[in-house]
This record gives sequence, C-alpha cells and structure tokens, in this order.
Amino acid sequence: MINLEGDGFEWFNYYWTEFIEWFLAAPLIAQILVIIGIVTIIVLTIVLVYYIAKGICLLLTYIGKGIYKLFKALSTAVEGKTEEKEQSQQIHYVQAVEPRPVVQKTPQITKTNTNALGKAHFCTECGVKFPEKVMSSLDSRGFAFCQQCGSKSEINQVQISI
Ligand SMILES: [Zn+2]
Repeated sequence: MINLEGDGFEWFNYYWTEFIEWFLAAPLIAQILVIIGIVTIIVLTIVLVYYIAKGICLLLTYIGKGIYKLFKALSTAVEGKTEEKEQSQQIHYVQAVEPRPVVQKTPQITKTNTNALGKAHFCTECGVKFPEKVMSSLDSRGFAFCQQCGSKSEINQVQISI
C-alpha cells in the first residue's frame, strides 16, 4: 500500500493521515491539549527565530562597528602621516602665493589708465570735447582724429594743452 522508498511528501502524508485519524478519534481534552501544544511550538519557533534574527543583526552591527573602528584607526594613522605632508605642502603653497602682490601691480596700471580715460580731453584745434569712442582710440593708439574738425590729436599734445 505505502511506498516507503517514495518522496518525503508521501511519507509525511501517511503519518499526517494517521495523526488526523487518531486526532478525530481522540477525546476532546486530548484534542485541546494537542492544539495548545502545536500553537505553543509555533509561537516558540517564531519567538526563537525572531531572537536568532535579532542576535544575528546585533552581531553583524557589532562586527560592522568593529570593522569601522578598525578602518578609522587605520585611516587616522595614515592621515597623521599625510597631514604632516599636507602641512609642508601648505607652507610651500603659502611661499608660492607670496609673490602675488607683485602681480597685483598690473591692476594699479589699469587704474592709471582709467584715470586717464576719466579725464576730459579736448581737441587742440576746435576745442570740442572728445567722446568716449575717440578717447578709447586715443588711449590705445596714442592718437585720434577729431570728429568735429578732423585734426589729428596725440595724447601727449592733449596732456600738454591741459
Ligand atoms: Zn577738432
């Protein structure tokens, strides 16, 4: 009737039907006790699985924290060496930056140029005030032609005239 060399389900099914037959035939108190026992086993299994999972999680976090602390300690040990290098590099950097005030002299030159542009220039022939377009060409080329009379004005002549 029952093939014992079959798969596990057939084996389980046989004992399950045997159990059901016994359970239905058993008195009510035995049925209740069996149900209570099964429920208790299920609840205990759930609780056990929960605590095992919690324990594994805690263990993993502790391992993670331990690894993190280890890496942090290693990194700080490495950073201690690199910080010394960085400090020496910063000193070099500051030394490299120091000549910059010499470079800042160029804006001062442009300031004098803007001052020259700010001055009003007039034509030496007709006395008309030069517009900004003529002023810029006067500053860049050193000479410009008056828009009114067409005479050539050089920057030195204008400065002398003022
Ligand atoms: Zn003119």
